[in-house]
Amino acid sequence: MEIVAATNNSEKAREFAEILTDLGISVITMKDLGIKIEIPETGKTFAENAMIKAKEVARLCNLPVIADDSGLCVNALDGAPGLYSARFAGEGASDSELRAKLLKAMENESDRSAFFISSVVMLFPDGKSIEAEGRVSGNITYEEKGSGGFGYDAIFFCDEIEKTFAEATPLEKDEVSHRGRALRELYKKIKGEI
Ligand code: IMP
Repeated sequence: MEIVAATNNSEKAREFAEILTDLGISVITMKDLGIKIEIPETGKTFAENAMIKAKEVARLCNLPVIADDSGLCVNALDGAPGLYSARFAGEGASDSELRAKLLKAMENESDRSAFFISSVVMLFPDGKSIEAEGRVSGNITYEEKGSGGFGYDAIFFCDEIEKTFAEATPLEKDEVSHRGRALRELYKKIKGEI
């Protein structure tokens, strides 16, 4: 079966494709379909934002759409950047600006614990939808480590693999990541439907 990944983030699209291809689902991107839209994230929860993204893309194609909304929640910052993870350093800020802003905010914090969360939704052309969520916990490092991945990967030390996500191979990250977990959970739920 073919589904559309509702994301403009090429790294996220690659993760969707890697994880779902393993499960026998082929992923096409918005770029493949020539869909060029910026989707405002106006929801109050990760799940609401994922549904907003899925609906916007579903309006433009007659295929099942999968969308995720994700973020990094830091305990010492009362869950920030959370829903605002992509905009934490202002609209259009680069990934390295995001990481620098978070390291600065954490300068005097000894509790470095944090978790990534991903809320995913699969929206079928008949309007039916199925949701799932995944989380992974870890600690914010004091400096960047590793050069892979995207976003906050280089400052997120994952407890389970004992390295930052930017030091992990794509497979190591997918096996424990919030997105990997959410997509595998989603797959369990949709297996009967496809
Ligand atoms: P959104 O889900 O597209 O709204 O983006 C959420 C933001 O959270 C991204 O722009 C990244 O900064 C961050 N983020 C989400 N997932 C990851 C991840 O797997 N690694 C690093 N940063 C992530």
